[in-house]
Amino acid sequence: MSKLIPELYGSLVFNDTVMRDKLPKDIYKALRKTIDNHTHLELDVANAVATAMKEWAVELGATHFTHWFQPMTGVTAEKHDSFISPVEGGKVIMEFSGKELVKGEPDASSFPSGGLRATFEARGYTAWDPTSPAFIKDGTLCIPTAFCSYTGEALDKKTPLLRSMEALNKEAVKILHILGETDVTSVSTTVGPEQEYFLIDKEDFKKRKDLIFTGRTLLGAMPPKGQEMEDHYFGILKPRVAAYMHDLDEELWKLGIPAKTKHNEVAPCQHELAPVFDTTNVAVDHNQITMEIMKKVADKHGYVCLLHEKPFAGINGSGKHNNWSVSTNTGVNLLDPGKKPAENKRFLLFLAAVIKAVDEYADLMRVSVASAGNDHRLGANEAPPAIISIFLGDELTAVLDSIINGSSFDSTKEMMSIGATVLPHFVKDTTDRNRTSPFAFTGNKFEFRSLGSSASVSTPNIVLNTAVAEALSQFSAKLEGVAPEKLDEAVMTLVRETIVAHKRVIFNGNGYAAEWVEEAKARGLYNLKSTPEALPAFKAPKNMELFIKHGVFSEAEITSRTEILFENYVKTLHIETLTLQDMVRKEFLPSVMRYADSVCESISAKRAISTSLPTGATEKLLEKLSAYYEEISEGVDKLDEDTQKAEAIETIEEQAMYYHDVVMADMDALRSVADKAEELIPDDVLPYPTYEQMLFYV
Ligand code: ADP
Ligand code: MG
Repeated sequence: MSKLIPELYGSLVFNDTVMRDKLPKDIYKALRKTIDNHTHLELDVANAVATAMKEWAVELGATHFTHWFQPMTGVTAEKHDSFISPVEGGKVIMEFSGKELVKGEPDASSFPSGGLRATFEARGYTAWDPTSPAFIKDGTLCIPTAFCSYTGEALDKKTPLLRSMEALNKEAVKILHILGETDVTSVSTTVGPEQEYFLIDKEDFKKRKDLIFTGRTLLGAMPPKGQEMEDHYFGILKPRVAAYMHDLDEELWKLGIPAKTKHNEVAPCQHELAPVFDTTNVAVDHNQITMEIMKKVADKHGYVCLLHEKPFAGINGSGKHNNWSVSTNTGVNLLDPGKKPAENKRFLLFLAAVIKAVDEYADLMRVSVASAGNDHRLGANEAPPAIISIFLGDELTAVLDSIINGSSFDSTKEMMSIGATVLPHFVKDTTDRNRTSPFAFTGNKFEFRSLGSSASVSTPNIVLNTAVAEALSQFSAKLEGVAPEKLDEAVMTLVRETIVAHKRVIFNGNGYAAEWVEEAKARGLYNLKSTPEALPAFKAPKNMELFIKHGVFSEAEITSRTEILFENYVKTLHIETLTLQDMVRKEFLPSVMRYADSVCESISAKRAISTSLPTGATEKLLEKLSAYYEEISEGVDKLDEDTQKAEAIETIEEQAMYYHDVVMADMDALRSVADKAEELIPDDVLPYPTYEQMLFYV
């Protein structure tokens, strides 16, 4: 490392320190006001900021700038413009204006819009988001921007997120003022996303069309050893992996991304990275950059970083844990129970708001994590079930019980004793770990664990912020106008009523257990098992109403987004079925044939030498191979037919359902026969590297 970490950290970011340093005082103040209070930015301020930004970027070797945005493809987009501007004498100067900083006009007709933007009005706008700092990536100054259509509809993942943060800010400040906390002027949500990923060798990756085209393996028998020994989780990092992680940390630190923890995960070749939490908007941007840098650094180390939710069947997939909290501009974490949660009215009110929000909008939370990839995880005993419930832990549950029953709560905390006196004694956490819950209270924040590893963390946070804003707004309506001396009692009554009404969503037991599915059904909770089952909930009248009321999505935006999500699902499965057919027809079946041929030759050779040589076992092998060949051929024909049927279905919702119910079932059936055949075929005859080679030799 050439530089010390504190010097390296944020060295490629136009952060507050740089702004203070490079901007004239009045400009700095004006910009700060825009960032902190979301006020409009005047053009002269923008011009001054642009000039300073350009000078700073050019000094660091940047030649281009880009409006960096997050269309609904799930990945980020950028279009690079250079700073050069020709002047007399065949020379150039480096220029960047305030106008170029605040607004861009990418021709955006090829981004998904779900019918929002007709091609004849292909123009889209990008607008600078000053609340997320600009940064330099590969010699380009990247300016985080929101992306919308000519008519002002959001076409991205940032705009609605910012709107949802504003909705929550408004409702949280309002209720805090009712509680008498008038020093609070703004409230924002914070997020720390833990990111899981796989690293496999680049050479292996290149040999597998399924990984190349779909990000996951569509064929592949389990190796003799999987993850059952649990020896990989938190295991010692192999030197090559450690070198990768070291490089990754450094690249992220330069971009001001506070990568903090890293470790091996449950599956072989699986790892995790978690940053220190940040304001939601910044955390979302950072997570997008993190995923991009993970892939880039992997390439340098001869790896490919797989972010798919389920790269290998039978082996744990990857998710993201969205740690979420709410804090005030005065530095108070509103989900911190403090020493005496039972008496902490503000905490109880916010806790009740979250419980109400999750219960009422569990369907939306499920939609927010729905994707073809994530369907392989949710409910598969490795990730939380598709049923959304809340884990609170024993202490908080006891607090809430005492509120419901009107009994007093003894808040003396249990001291942890590990047995040996030399080890420190510490106060036990108020919540135990329950890894099976989709939404768990973890001390001073909630952890939403259903997110897929490859998706942007934006949508789940849009839903959370908006649903909680709605709960708070209903609370305010009840508490407004209550006389100060009656307020405490009114708050406790409200908390009690809310918990009684919504306690069905609280579940501290094992979310993986089959009994929970039954119980959840009896409690009336949603169990939206697959993406096509979940997506229609996005447009449900109550959910439309929620988003429209809080100005987060318009009706047209919701309809178009639902359409895009359905399209993504259908396209993903379509690519998967075509890839599987291609691999089976052109690679796998020929290798079964090749091996069968060589077995045949061996039998004839033996017979040529002597008819008394035993050939029974060889013949049996040949029989098996031939039977598999037939069965696989039939399977791929059926898959082909059903795929064609799926293609012909006209409504996207029916089409998605057909892909899920029929095409995916065909794919699974085909795979299971092929995987059995694979076990008979020697590695050097197989057309691509096996699970064993990919997972245990990295
Ligand atoms: P785990 O045991 O699940 O790995 P940690 O306590 O290490 O949990 O924290 C996981 C993540 O939660 C980190 O990214 C951390 O920064 C984040 N986090 C901590 N406090 C908050 C908060 N108030 N708001 C949002 N995220 C938080
Ligand atoms: Mg966690």
